[in-house]
Amino acid sequence: MLTPAVNMVPAADGEGATMPKASRVAVGAVVVFVVFVVVILSGWLHGPTLTVVDDFALLALAIPAVAFSALAARSLWGRRRLAWASMTVGLLGWTVGEAIWTVYEVHLHQPPFPSIADVAFLVMPVGACAALLLLPAEHTSQSRARLFLDGVIMAGSLFLVSWVTILHPLYQSDAPDQLGFVISLAYPLSDIVILTVAGVALVRSTGQHRLSLILLTAGLACFALADSAFAYLTATDSYSSGNVIDIGWAAGLLFISVAASAAHESKRKRRNSFVLPGWASVWLPYTPLLVAGVVAAAQPVPDLKSRPVLIVASILVVTVLGRQFLAVKENRLLVATVADQALHDPLTGLANRALFSDRLGHAMHLHEREGLSLAVLAVDLNEFKLVNDHLGHLVGDDLLVGVAQRLRHCVRPGDTVARLGGDEFSILVEGGNDVAELVGNRVVEAFEEPFVLNGHELLMRPSVGLALAESDEPDLTADELLQRADTAMYSAKRSRARVVQTYSPEMQLLTEVDDKMLFGPTAPPPGLGAAGSIQLLGRLRAAIDEAALTLAYQPKFDLQTGRIVGVEALLRWPQPDGSVLAPEAFLPLVRRHGLMGSVTQMVISRALEDASKWRRAGVDIPVAVNLFAPSMANVGLPATITQALADHGLPPSALAVEITEELFLDSTERTRLVLNELRRNGIRIAIDDFGSGYSALSYLRDLPIDEVKLDRSFIAPIAADDRAAAVVRAVVGLAHVLDLTVVVEGVEDAETAALVRELGCGVGQGYFYGVPVPADQVPGLVTGGLGGLPSGWPGSTPGAGVKGC
Ligand code: C2E
Ligand code: CA
Ligand code: CA
Repeated sequence: MLTPAVNMVPAADGEGATMPKASRVAVGAVVVFVVFVVVILSGWLHGPTLTVVDDFALLALAIPAVAFSALAARSLWGRRRLAWASMTVGLLGWTVGEAIWTVYEVHLHQPPFPSIADVAFLVMPVGACAALLLLPAEHTSQSRARLFLDGVIMAGSLFLVSWVTILHPLYQSDAPDQLGFVISLAYPLSDIVILTVAGVALVRSTGQHRLSLILLTAGLACFALADSAFAYLTATDSYSSGNVIDIGWAAGLLFISVAASAAHESKRKRRNSFVLPGWASVWLPYTPLLVAGVVAAAQPVPDLKSRPVLIVASILVVTVLGRQFLAVKENRLLVATVADQALHDPLTGLANRALFSDRLGHAMHLHEREGLSLAVLAVDLNEFKLVNDHLGHLVGDDLLVGVAQRLRHCVRPGDTVARLGGDEFSILVEGGNDVAELVGNRVVEAFEEPFVLNGHELLMRPSVGLALAESDEPDLTADELLQRADTAMYSAKRSRARVVQTYSPEMQLLTEVDDKMLFGPTAPPPGLGAAGSIQLLGRLRAAIDEAALTLAYQPKFDLQTGRIVGVEALLRWPQPDGSVLAPEAFLPLVRRHGLMGSVTQMVISRALEDASKWRRAGVDIPVAVNLFAPSMANVGLPATITQALADHGLPPSALAVEITEELFLDSTERTRLVLNELRRNGIRIAIDDFGSGYSALSYLRDLPIDEVKLDRSFIAPIAADDRAAAVVRAVVGLAHVLDLTVVVEGVEDAETAALVRELGCGVGQGYFYGVPVPADQVPGLVTGGLGGLPSGWPGSTPGAGVKGC
């Protein structure tokens, strides 16, 4: 049943190998940058030499920036991958532009403006802008569209300010040709847009990607400064390569390289969490607008009538209107989301208790008024606690999400599936009881496939209870109906039923009887209330501490010779009133509260103590203890057992283990190791309850075992049902081929006893041969009373009448 580990987070191929190389390249880039700055500022180089050194140094910094950015894109997923891919395209454009520019400068001395290099350079702002819009992947209540509009508002305002203060006077004094004008304007303009989008993105970013975003913004800011200075110097014809402003591009490239490597580091975010953006994101876009308004108000009116001012002002008006519209729309959506969240479980998205109660209340009204039938299914996962304890809460959460998905597929569109808490689910089905049963059966079937979580394959079983509100009970209340579904579910859990249990009044009675047994006269309300469980748990803990749990031993007989070949230790909890609780009544609590380890230890040591007493009395009989599969994954177990055997002066053959567990957690590798080790030490291993679990056949194939114990549900019907007998025969054949001993459990009558012998089963156990007895009666059983033939052997007196414990 086990599959190879599934990685939930795809590993970045070769990331480990590229990072050391990346750090070397980064160091190289820093060195180039420092040398570059020194050369530019020192004034050592002049003329064409400076130009060439400057151009090549910028190229030398641009190439690693492209490489880092591409590496980041390769190692990331989803939007972040797209973002870094856009950034790579932008940087590539800029690098090509720089290469063309270098060719111009080397060959023509005075590069043309505008030129094809400008087209390549301008790919950079487009790529950077796209990257910034894609990057902030955190879930905020504000949309990317709003982020973009904020950027436009800020950019428009900044443009207006720079236009009326610097650019307009400048271009008026020395206007180049139309294309040149547009292109030289495009640099500062695009930088303003990028900077504003980066600013807004930064303000809104909250998560782990912030560092790389800060670095990227710093890089783009350096670019923007250099670009604007370049536009200004070109317009005044005073730019040549080697100018101080070139440091801006060099620093920009360096920052972007570091940002790209920082992007490697940030890991996948587990769940979408709802992050509220800071106040800055609310007021930030309006600040430049206010500044633009103030600056514009201070200008003479004719200056404001120039075309760029009018165009940008109109764009601003439209954008502000659009942003307001979006904000209102998003707020409405937000209110709807909040209202929705109040009624849904945040983890699974299923209805929560409030919504479920509301729908149930409504359906109950219809039931009362119009006699419409409805049903509630209570679904609870068996052993969910084990998953949380062994595999961690995140895997537990993933499991709950998976369960919710499966439950959703079991119902019709109008039915309500709710998570009421923990691993407790409820389904409201409106309609006749056929529909409800159908849904219930589907729920049971939905768990036949294992869940694959974080590489672990888990077979979970639900306990499903069904309660119907039919037309003959118009007075039934919603609470009563829920309680009934719970009672039915608990009954399913108790009997480990793999089918839907439909509520019947006897169940209520049984629950009450059970509760009386557990709690005495102060019994809690039916269905094991929380207070009751806590009380029971306290008593159980005390019983474990005080070693008040005891063991009963049930003999196993060789069906050919009639001799006792071993005994099985079965746990008992004697009560103050003289009654004795069977393991099924308290083991679930033991497991749920992590007490299994101490119980197992106590069982092993008590069983070995008894075995050594029997030995001293001259009876050499192996004792089998029951262990849950999860304990088998405990690598310390073999050593503990060996030590316990040594402490009691017993050989390994004195002990056998029976593995009992429905849920076989997937630590199979470890389980196999532990089993191998136990076997190497000479301890026999049996698979218990064979035939009652889903994956039993694969256990036979995969695990090193000696014995198979056929479940009593398998054996009970063989006398009456030929097909059941045929199955047993086949399993016996299979076991022989695999060289395993077959033990039949739960043989209760002579007819079955005769049949299992005929079918070739090796060892028998059951009330017919012998009931569980206290330790001190075991030697008598083996040596005395029963002689060679156990009671209940065909032709002798059945042992079923023997009073056992
Ligand atoms: P199991 O290992 O399958 O044990 C056999 C159960 O079947 C015992 O119930 C036994 O009393 C009962 N039984 C034996 N012969 C017959 C028969 O002819 N007919 C019927 N109807 N039942 C028969 P018990 O003692 O109540 O134990 C129930 C389960 O509790 C065990 O099933 C085992 O899974 C678990 N268990 C018992 N002791 C321990 C323990 O020390 N550790 C662990 N981990 N589990 C234990
Ligand atoms: Ca057993
Ligand atoms: Ca069994």
